[in-house]
Amino acid sequence: MRTASESVPCGHAGLSPAAADMDYLPVFLRLDARPVVVVGGGQVAVRKVAWLRRAGACVTVVAPRVHPELEQQAARGQLRHIPAAFSPAHLADAVAVVAATGERTVNERVAAAARARGVPVNVVDDAELSTFIFPAIVDRSPIVVAVSSAGHAPVLARRVREQIEALLPGRLGALARFMGARRKAVQRALGAVARRGFWERIASGPVATLVLQGAGERAERALARELLTSQLTSAPATAGRGLGEVYLIGAGPGDPDLLTLRALQLLQRADVILYDRLVSEAVLDRARRDAERIFVGRQSGGSDQQRRIHELLVRFAGEGKRVARLKGGDPLVFGRGGEELEVLAAHGIPCTVVPGITAALAAAAAAELPLTHRRLASSVTFVSGQLSDGALPDWRFLANPEHTVVVYMGVAQLANIVAKLRAAGAAPEHPAAIIERATLPGQQILRGTLGNIAALAQASEVEPPAILILGDVAAFAAAEAGTASVPAEAAAGVPA
Ligand code: SAH
Repeated sequence: MRTASESVPCGHAGLSPAAADMDYLPVFLRLDARPVVVVGGGQVAVRKVAWLRRAGACVTVVAPRVHPELEQQAARGQLRHIPAAFSPAHLADAVAVVAATGERTVNERVAAAARARGVPVNVVDDAELSTFIFPAIVDRSPIVVAVSSAGHAPVLARRVREQIEALLPGRLGALARFMGARRKAVQRALGAVARRGFWERIASGPVATLVLQGAGERAERALARELLTSQLTSAPATAGRGLGEVYLIGAGPGDPDLLTLRALQLLQRADVILYDRLVSEAVLDRARRDAERIFVGRQSGGSDQQRRIHELLVRFAGEGKRVARLKGGDPLVFGRGGEELEVLAAHGIPCTVVPGITAALAAAAAAELPLTHRRLASSVTFVSGQLSDGALPDWRFLANPEHTVVVYMGVAQLANIVAKLRAAGAAPEHPAAIIERATLPGQQILRGTLGNIAALAQASEVEPPAILILGDVAAFAAAEAGTASVPAEAAAGVPA
């Protein structure tokens, strides 16, 4: 698709064009208050008009009839509508024109008229007739990413756009404005060399993290501190990296598609990743390729290992690194994340916590059983099955089948847990489910009762990681129970 360069040769000016290896030059066109003509008034025109208006263009729509949305915009004075068939005179002062009529002959006439006047023209879905195209856009204004496949594969371009969309923080534009608004002040305060290092640190350090979280005031204070440090350390060598930071990230149950967007974004920023045994290979694959990865999973015992983790966090952050502390599930649910937060706070190291999908939620989704349900349970408790660890649960409270209990780390203690619940009054029919390796390859779901769950687990050779769900919800089966309390008209599809 070389039409643009073929049909407008510059040989006539005595020039010989280089062989183009790029179909289009991506440029950003300033349309603020400039006249742009859109020919056609249907759904496609509505979309193009919307983009043009976002860029501040003064839009004229030429079409005998237009979509009601365009009609309304015209009535509000947001665009001009010329209810007529296209004629070249409509292009009189246009800086660009879009042909969106869906009729080839009309589009051809628009393209020819535009070319004759040297006005850039886009014919929707027709790269051959176009001299410019609309890219797929990721808008974090003032940061804007444009993706094009030069008309070869718009679907692919849109997929690339989606991937970039997921990768770029929602508040990236706010960060750009934050930095922009302080450029002059920083220019006055720092010399050219120091300035570059300063902005690099701002863009990749705690200040940016704070702005991206929406914590503007804290970001402001952190920036002021960074500025002061930069002014005090005159030698560029010592001005190197500022204080690092830690991201305490929940990696979810294992399926990488269950990471949050923020987890993904921070994994792309991290220089070092400290990860646990429960963090799957597939999740690690989504991290920055050149990040240093350190396995810090507990083998046994634990307290030595936890101390080592604290040391590593403090050491790496002290070296100015961005450290991702990646934990299975959610970092603050049976993850010792609280202890790590204490250590970081004691050392004044900035930390961002990113929640993850905890195993209870992943397991419930995998087994399609609700943790609460209007008929079955109105409360839920997460307990640790490591019964020697800390305070013992109140078994009588947990033995109520209308209360859902989710037991983490409970497989090894299964018989013991069943015995405790039975002794506290739970019936042998009390429903129980085990979800092993929720969302991971080899996922296994077992349903039973307190009476038989231990035998079932043994027969199926259940191993950690697995979670135990107890209570009436554990016997839930949507197909059987679903319609019982649903009024007939709702079941028939009538909105309630
Ligand atoms: N912070 C984690 C829990 C860590 S404790 C979270 O929020 O999920 C470890 C226990 O979590 C395991 O013993 C198991 O009970 C549970 N677990 C973690 N991942 C699991 C998975 N994919 N499937 C089932 N249980 C899981």
